[in-house]
Amino acid sequence: MVGEFRNEAVLDFNVPEDKQKMEAALEYIRSQFSREYPLHINGEDVTTGNLFKSYNPANKTEVIGTFHRAGKKEVDIAMAAALQAFETWKNFDPEERGILLLKAANIMRRRRFELNAWMVYETSKNWIEADADTAEAIDFLDFYGREMLRLSERQPLTDNPGEFNKMIYIPLGVGAVIPPWNFPNAILVGMTSAAIVTGNSVLLKPSSDSPCTGYCLVEIMQEAGIPAGVLNFIPGAGSEIGDYIVQHPKTRFIAFTGSMEVGLRINRLAAQTSEGQIWIKRVVAEMGGKDGIVVDSEADVEAAAEATVASAFGFQGQKCSACSRVMVDESIYDDFCERIVEKTKKLTMGDTINPDNYMGAVINKASFDSISKYIEIGKKEGKLLIGGEGDDSKGYFIQPTIIKDIAPDAVISQEEIFGPVLAVIKVKGMDNAMHVANNTIYGLTGAFFSRNKGKITRAKREFHVGNLYINRKCTGALVDVHPFGGFNMSGTDSKAGGRDYLQLFMQAKTITEQL
Ligand code: NAP
Repeated sequence: MVGEFRNEAVLDFNVPEDKQKMEAALEYIRSQFSREYPLHINGEDVTTGNLFKSYNPANKTEVIGTFHRAGKKEVDIAMAAALQAFETWKNFDPEERGILLLKAANIMRRRRFELNAWMVYETSKNWIEADADTAEAIDFLDFYGREMLRLSERQPLTDNPGEFNKMIYIPLGVGAVIPPWNFPNAILVGMTSAAIVTGNSVLLKPSSDSPCTGYCLVEIMQEAGIPAGVLNFIPGAGSEIGDYIVQHPKTRFIAFTGSMEVGLRINRLAAQTSEGQIWIKRVVAEMGGKDGIVVDSEADVEAAAEATVASAFGFQGQKCSACSRVMVDESIYDDFCERIVEKTKKLTMGDTINPDNYMGAVINKASFDSISKYIEIGKKEGKLLIGGEGDDSKGYFIQPTIIKDIAPDAVISQEEIFGPVLAVIKVKGMDNAMHVANNTIYGLTGAFFSRNKGKITRAKREFHVGNLYINRKCTGALVDVHPFGGFNMSGTDSKAGGRDYLQLFMQAKTITEQL
């Protein structure tokens, strides 16, 4: 018997003991920067000599880890190992697989500060954001472990006299897991653990921007007792080995989270049958967003302003759920704009090694350049209220930026920027607000602020997003509280952290026996 699932509480760094532990972890992880990381295939370290480095975005020349890069040859070796491991792993008692995840959750609890510290250095998350990421990763392990126990129980079927019937869930095969860098622990752990607990074996290609954080899962799973070949870690450039992994005839499924462009490419390539392939590849793809908050004329303007600033600038606006457009009724527009500017002025920015810094750097030079380009476009499309400048002299820092009077179809109202840039759009009445709220190609998260029950009912029906929040911020989904996934070009709506998620990694087999 295991207890009921409970979300892991996040730490409070005002508690002196936790603050000291975090400081000690930051110091310890710094002492690890010179480490060189191998690939991990079939339970063994593999080196290729073809190296790449992971850098600190807040201190751009600081190397925090050096990795051996996988090429096509290593993908083939990892695939062979995974195929072999699958033959025994698929027959493991599902309960044992579930327990493996629960053990891993406990190991991660023990290593929590270390993981938080890796994310502070590798992705410039502030302490609280880093800890929330680790708490979510622990939740995924704890929740999917329990979910597997539930799904391994007898599934209900209607009786047919003269027959014995049962339906069981069996795994798919070898899957590719391809996560992004922005939740380098939680999303990587969530997708990988779901694939493994359901009896599949995995080729895990971490993001090239966050491999140090990703490697921790390899160590944790080894300590938890995962059999060799079930989890194979093959860091490398998505542009070099991504297509090869996706098109491999033995790849049975791809679990991807990242940009729309890469997700659509994976979906397209996976649909083409390779020579020797005997199945339709399954693609679970969670992609980008252009998430919006609607502030109605009858909203609590102060609460809406608070939620908008938190949703727009938390982790530098680099959450798929981040608010990047806010649609404000004309009757409260000026008041709302003043409030968000005042709140944004109070945000602190700098290297997040210092816990007083709320915002850190954006992930890399390409991102800095792309966000800067969007800010310049935005300055032409509307009126800059605050921010608008970047400084990449030491790290990739961009001021929280708000641009008002943006037209609903303007570039910065439509395209995912993935940085601290908020477009403010004036709307008139509920019809107009709902129309503008839905006028992008995405549909991931959204929030609606109003005190009017009728309008809230309408927003619940009409605001077409996978995760809709009423009178609260549009970020911060919790496992099994807010199952997470988007509509339209935001992906396949796989609802990570929900009770339908594990079935995506399995197929149901119905067995009928004549009595
Ligand atoms: P990305 O550039 O699409 O990369 C995601 C992953 O795909 C990385 O591991 C990347 O490897 C790999 N990749 C690149 N090219 C590939 C190819 N041709 N074939 C296979 N894999 C390939 O996205 P990102 O910048 O890491 O993450 C930010 C994006 O993720 C944003 O659009 C955000 O909205 C989205 N996101 C969505 C969700 C959600 O739940 N919907 C959650 C988080 C993030 P390399 O690093 O080696 O290039």
